[in-house]
Amino acid sequence: MTSTIYNNSYDIAAVMLCICCIFYFIMSKRIHHFKHTLYAALCVCVFSGSLSNILAGYFAKSKINLAANISISLYFLVNVLTMYVFGLYVQCLSGHLINRRKNFFLMYSIPAVIAFCLILVNFFFHFLFYYDTDCNYIRNNSFLILHTLVMFYLGHTIFVLLRNATFIQKQKILYLFSGLAFVITGIVVQILFRQLQIQLFTEAVMLSLMAIVFENASLEVDTELNVYKRKVFLEFYKTACDMKSQMTLIAVSLVNTEQLLSTLSSEEKTVAFRTVCEKISKLVGHNNVYAYTTEKYAIMLERNKIKNYSIAENDYLIALEAMFNQSWTVENKKIYFNALVTVIHLPEDTDNVTLDSAFHRGRDLNFTDSNMILRNNEDVNIIRKRTRMLNAVRRACENRSFIVYYQPIWSVDSQSFVSAEALVRMDDTELGFIPPDEFISAAEEYGLISNLGEIVLEKVCEFYANYHPEQYGIKWIELNVSPYQLGDANIVQKFARLLHKYNVPVSFINLELTETVDVFRNSIFNDTLKQLKDYGFTFSMDDYGTGYSNLANLMSNNYKTVKIDKSLLWKATDKAGMDFLMITVNQLKSIKLQVLQEGVETKEQLDIITSFGGNLIQGYYFSKPLSDIDFIAYCKRFAG
Ligand code: C2E
Ligand code: CA
Ligand code: CA
Repeated sequence: MTSTIYNNSYDIAAVMLCICCIFYFIMSKRIHHFKHTLYAALCVCVFSGSLSNILAGYFAKSKINLAANISISLYFLVNVLTMYVFGLYVQCLSGHLINRRKNFFLMYSIPAVIAFCLILVNFFFHFLFYYDTDCNYIRNNSFLILHTLVMFYLGHTIFVLLRNATFIQKQKILYLFSGLAFVITGIVVQILFRQLQIQLFTEAVMLSLMAIVFENASLEVDTELNVYKRKVFLEFYKTACDMKSQMTLIAVSLVNTEQLLSTLSSEEKTVAFRTVCEKISKLVGHNNVYAYTTEKYAIMLERNKIKNYSIAENDYLIALEAMFNQSWTVENKKIYFNALVTVIHLPEDTDNVTLDSAFHRGRDLNFTDSNMILRNNEDVNIIRKRTRMLNAVRRACENRSFIVYYQPIWSVDSQSFVSAEALVRMDDTELGFIPPDEFISAAEEYGLISNLGEIVLEKVCEFYANYHPEQYGIKWIELNVSPYQLGDANIVQKFARLLHKYNVPVSFINLELTETVDVFRNSIFNDTLKQLKDYGFTFSMDDYGTGYSNLANLMSNNYKTVKIDKSLLWKATDKAGMDFLMITVNQLKSIKLQVLQEGVETKEQLDIITSFGGNLIQGYYFSKPLSDIDFIAYCKRFAG
């Protein structure tokens, strides 16, 4: 049995610190989340712990035995509670509480309940600690039981931290450990030197540290949208994936934002996006909504929490659809949002589905029936496939493993092969051979097309340097350039650098462009086109007759050649089709354009197009696309 005189200055400091933390907590606006509730509870615990310790000391000094005993019991009760809540807080941070059932909380509470009972019984039987009639503080050896129970929580918290270290940001782990080490030092010092009652003070310091690192709303909440920031989402999503938690991600991408751009001012736009976030938050709970970008939002739902999940999930989706099918009023303007919604189930869907693809808006979405399109399971499979494709394109870009094939182009006028179209091929280690139509569109969607285009040009330049095909009559190569490549402001420098490196004359490269409505309205593309032209490149218009290409563009004097799409030739099986093809060829020739017909497969087709006056012929009738060596061998045979 021992007794000590108590010095209250550290506890007063702790009270002050707690008041600051509580004030800071109340003042900063944050999204309601269990984590914050726990933090607030911690503040209150440490505050009331310090206060009861001070009171106990005061009453002991004033020799008011009953009040001193009540205060000290309260102090220990709060002490146990603090460790309990702190443990929960750390588990909340580390994602450990996702999908926890009631049983877990019951089990976790057992040591605390035992400690509570012991302290209550101790109030009457004084077997742990008490103030005697002279108000000396006495602590019995059985006090160790209380220590052990508290240590259980500390130990468990450290265990959770160590086990989940990989799931939490390194920096945060560091803060938590240093804070914990500080608190433990406090406890040890207090055990060794009774007069130094610094445990609560160290806890209050830890609270302040947590306020800065974990409770700082500005680090977590997007102030414009008033939902969690992308960073918070990415961290949470990663944790959920790593822990294989049963969760559902509902990815909401607003689609028609470009059109809205023209009718709303930037402030109005912010208000509009914020309103969408607000409504989603109301629907699914504020702490489940995250901003992926200004126009894309993530909803994360725990599946275990809700019984009969699929029905609940469908209810959410129906409510979301209803929401988007209503108009939104922003500053007296009535607008509609189109949304693309993708549902991803964790953990089963996460293999091979990247977040980018889940949020990817894609093209050609049809919103005539509803303002919301829901991507279902089948679509998720498509996304998965696309993600694999994307990874394959990435690999091929990194390893420069694309292969370029050449399809000979026959000149009717000179009766010889004068050119070839360079066609890219991809043979992936995982996916095998993939047709260009598929991977080109993936490369375009994911911003890899510039990279790909450069590699293809470099291969063509290497081909020129290695074989000098001009000696076999090949005067130029048709190189496909995606309209998206023209968005790259440095394309001219990049192309020029390659031509220079391999000593290839610019006249050897003719760029094939496909015109699309959206792209050519944009002035950047026209600027780039002009720069390429000024550098000396010539152009063919590809896929003429498939809908987008128009005569007005052809009159612009940018093009040397027009490639008539194979579908036009293939439809020339009756009089109407023949007439249409003939008129098209005549029209083009009348504005002094060379006509190149692609997709010529038969002698009849060749005869038709030559009789109409076509200048250049490309197609299986002559040859399929060939590897560089085969193509050179093919040319040699004809030239020789
Ligand atoms: P495209 O520019 O219209 O290329 C012509 C396509 O028609 C090629 O398909 C070619 O193999 C095929 N073809 C040629 N003659 C015939 C024929 O007589 N009959 C039939 N049925 N098909 C014929 P491929 O190589 O699969 O390329 C598909 C598309 O991929 C190309 O269409 C082009 O848009 C794109 N592409 C290919 N290489 C590149 C490239 O290096 N860069 C870019 N941006 N796109 C490329
Ligand atoms: Ca082409
Ligand atoms: Ca074509």
